[in-house]
Amino acid sequence: MSSGSEDILQFAPWESFVSPTFWHKLAELKLDYDRLSDAQRSISGHYTNRKATGCLLEADYTSFNSAGQPPKFCHAAVGTIYNKNTIEEFKALDKLTLLSDEGKKLLYDMCSDRVAADASLLTRFFVLSFADLKCHSYYYWFAFPCPLTPTLKLQGAVTRLSDLPNGSNYVEALQSLAPESQNFFILYANGQQNEAVEARSLSSLDENEVEHYYFGFADPSEYEHPAWLMRNYAAYLLQRFPCFVGRTLRFLGLRYNQKMQMDDSLIWNVVQSEACDLTKTEDIQFVGWELNKNGKMGPRMVCMRDSMDPAKLAENSINLNLKLMKWRLVPDINLEIISQTKCLLFGAGTLGCAVARNLLSWGFKRITLMDSGKVGFSNPVRQNLYTHADAVAGNRMKATTAAQRLRDINPSAETVGHVLEIPMPGHTIGESLRAQTEQNLQLIEQQVQAHDVIFLLTDSRESRWLPTLLGAAYQKIVINAALGFDSYLVMRHGSTRDMAGDSGLEIEGLKCINGNQLGCYFCNDVTAPGNSLKDRTLDQQCTVTRPGVSNIAASYAVELLVALLQHPQRELAPAYYTQTGRQQTVQSADAGKVPEGLLGILPHSVRGMLCNYENILPATQKFAQCIACSAPVLSAFRNEGHVFLFRTFETAKYLEDLTGISEFKRLNSEIIDFDDAEFDMSEDDED
Ligand SMILES: [Zn+2]
Repeated sequence: MSSGSEDILQFAPWESFVSPTFWHKLAELKLDYDRLSDAQRSISGHYTNRKATGCLLEADYTSFNSAGQPPKFCHAAVGTIYNKNTIEEFKALDKLTLLSDEGKKLLYDMCSDRVAADASLLTRFFVLSFADLKCHSYYYWFAFPCPLTPTLKLQGAVTRLSDLPNGSNYVEALQSLAPESQNFFILYANGQQNEAVEARSLSSLDENEVEHYYFGFADPSEYEHPAWLMRNYAAYLLQRFPCFVGRTLRFLGLRYNQKMQMDDSLIWNVVQSEACDLTKTEDIQFVGWELNKNGKMGPRMVCMRDSMDPAKLAENSINLNLKLMKWRLVPDINLEIISQTKCLLFGAGTLGCAVARNLLSWGFKRITLMDSGKVGFSNPVRQNLYTHADAVAGNRMKATTAAQRLRDINPSAETVGHVLEIPMPGHTIGESLRAQTEQNLQLIEQQVQAHDVIFLLTDSRESRWLPTLLGAAYQKIVINAALGFDSYLVMRHGSTRDMAGDSGLEIEGLKCINGNQLGCYFCNDVTAPGNSLKDRTLDQQCTVTRPGVSNIAASYAVELLVALLQHPQRELAPAYYTQTGRQQTVQSADAGKVPEGLLGILPHSVRGMLCNYENILPATQKFAQCIACSAPVLSAFRNEGHVFLFRTFETAKYLEDLTGISEFKRLNSEIIDFDDAEFDMSEDDED
């Protein structure tokens, strides 16, 4: 221990100790709340005087809590974070001015005596930071402002508390202080041998009793020097009681060991011989920027990439791209809805793969695929979740392989693949397959119920019938995509949910169909689906489409779903159209009048052609005799369940009779022509 008679007292500088959770929380706040704002934010830090190492001021995720209690055996420090938007702003900020501004806050607290009520104001700190969220790197610089006041001279040797006579009296006295008051306090000692010792709060300080006082503080320093915070403590006392100038003041740095004994606590007798008026803030200079790890004046950088679980890292990065939309472009977008929505994809071929990937891009996580096929040699070039090796293996099923690949791409995705055949109308089921079909039906039905959205992406029209019916029966959102050679159709099926009144607005020149009056994929058809692969040559059975068509359709399908999910009326949102001849579409001249949801208009369907790069947005009414979504079909399904389904698998004609479509066809065959030659969809996806 040093024992010079007139040594200048030195202090152990603070060392910032930042938990990774601090940066994770900062990133979250920046992304979700602050966004483009770089307003300063109040934070807290904490330090401990129990078995202290170094002289640490710690910050973690609790630092951002508004009324956070410090952890056990710790004391609070009052802080501010200045998180800049760019590295340039971080670098360019005038560090001297910032330190001085923060220092003046400290002086204000000292001079106005707010410190007496909350002594933690003496441990003020701030952080200048820049969070590079794309790289998971954080640039930061801590400062612990302190006014430059006249030096404190040490009088005599530093003594240990345990060397004082009747040291145990101090221990007892301190126990009367609440732990949260043990950051700064007074020990009043009376008598020759310190027989009577009392612990008091700072606010009770009486200048006439100063010779009885030990100015106590929780000392986070493990060194011979007291912690930096004693500097502000002394400055505060000398400011508040100018009569202390020139007098010996006793400071007690309270230090606990592992066993909560105070034997390591130290006592410094100090004198400040020159006066200093801290109310003259303009004359005061400040110190306190922390040195970096090289011992130089400068910021530090920490990269969280390596300390993060790769899956978590991926999740954060994916969320980053999505959350950035909220900063400027679509502040009201609800990403939570997207991540919670469960999607069931019928078909894991060209469309299924592309839709699934687009869903991942938007932050959908819960994706289930159903498909009966194996990955074949022709598949990988168009079906973007498969590779040549899958085909070579010879036994890789599309549904399960796709589910695995989605998790390979985003480990936090929850994906499942079910390998099964979708029963179809007019595809007779032999007795030997009946039990298996029944099992499949149960699984399909249960999966439809368990999901929010059904995607119809299979390679034939008739395989879309059952999912369409189930989607309608269980009031799910149904999105359908079908391909022609150079054309595509993407649509949302009309909802079967009840809705009171009209949801649309009266808009001049536009007509409108309520969301629950919109048609399904089958509403435009006057024939029940039969075996569409029968009597077809190979080029007709396999999808012959321009390769871009499936990607375009898949993208529209997912974008349509997202627009729907973000629309205040969701699937009940009306579709608007203008009538020209037989066509009910939104003409480009009128498109500007259509009311928009968060992401723009929500059409019923999108039909597009690659040959002229044109899209139209037809809207069609529900068809009362639809073989998939009409009331007779739904009630037959509700009443008879699988018995009804098996009957339709036996013969599709049953559906035509049930809905009265046979009669309808007979009556109208001469009058109504449903063919729309311009947009004749072959519906075929690639096998
Ligand atoms: Zn229908």
